[in-house]
Amino acid sequence: MTGGPITVAGVTVEPGERRDLSPSASESYTGDRTTLPLAAINGAEDGPRVFVTAAVHGDELNGIEACRRLLDLLDPADLNGAVIVVPIVNVLGVQIVSRYLPDRRDLNRAFPGSHTGSMAARIARLVTDEVIDGSDLGIDLHTAANHRTNVPQIRVAAGDEVATAHAVTFGAPFVLTAKLRPGSLRAVAHEMGVPVLTFEGGQPLRFDEDAVEVAVRGTLRVMQRIGMIDDAPPPSHDSPMVLAESRWLRADRGGLLELHCGIGDHIDPEQPLWTTTSPLGEERASVSASDEGYVIGATTLPLVQPGQALLHVALPGNRLPAEDDPTEEEDEDPDELDGD
Ligand SMILES: [Zn+2]
Repeated sequence: MTGGPITVAGVTVEPGERRDLSPSASESYTGDRTTLPLAAINGAEDGPRVFVTAAVHGDELNGIEACRRLLDLLDPADLNGAVIVVPIVNVLGVQIVSRYLPDRRDLNRAFPGSHTGSMAARIARLVTDEVIDGSDLGIDLHTAANHRTNVPQIRVAAGDEVATAHAVTFGAPFVLTAKLRPGSLRAVAHEMGVPVLTFEGGQPLRFDEDAVEVAVRGTLRVMQRIGMIDDAPPPSHDSPMVLAESRWLRADRGGLLELHCGIGDHIDPEQPLWTTTSPLGEERASVSASDEGYVIGATTLPLVQPGQALLHVALPGNRLPAEDDPTEEEDEDPDELDGD
């Protein structure tokens, strides 16, 4: 069955065609148009419509590179359905190398947005209308926030069995059920009936080869799962661990930090987690784990103060085979810390 034309941002894309579009997202101080980079790939054959978005936070660069590689791999002649790729959603944040928009708003709290609201609201509205609306599934690519790194992981809404099944196919080492944050792309898409996999991997302002590769492979694997492409690479991780709850462990003493574990590590009760010393070598704190868990995120800053979040630890759930369908966040802090 041949698919029909699709219309994205007012442009008709015929079956078997890719169109690179640049809808207006904002304007610069000098009055020039600031555009959203968007590739619309309409497959030769009919199928689902999927979107891939990255850099909703402007300092989270791994997804930008993942989108570039994906676009290189996707051929409309061999595609069933349509893929909308937006490598940079927060175009204003990227220009100033910032997680936030120039007015300090978080774009991932501005969805669904409005045509008459803030900078964030207007960009969110454009993405809601032209990218999310009409899609069957979305993949939103993130990294950890400033001075932190995340092990590659997929976050899905608790109880969203469709998204969880896709997340396991994705093949990142971990799947975390995380609450829907009001105003986030994922929450609004969920309300619109569009399941979204939020990918987290690596740290801001860097390309992390492992995280980029997990994101590319995983996206292709999900596309294969829903019949859009014939072949996909093997999973980055054979048996993703599904994790239910997570929390940040915080420092009680200030000083120089030595972590005794890293992202992806399994930790047991009583296992040493970190030591804090003064610059003159006095040991200030030696902290051990109270529970079993997996380290899914960690600070990258070796200097700590009381209250600073050091390790993001999630509790183990059920280990699921990669191809099975499983049946089965206080104030600004967790949001900032997680990178989502
Ligand atoms: Zn993010």
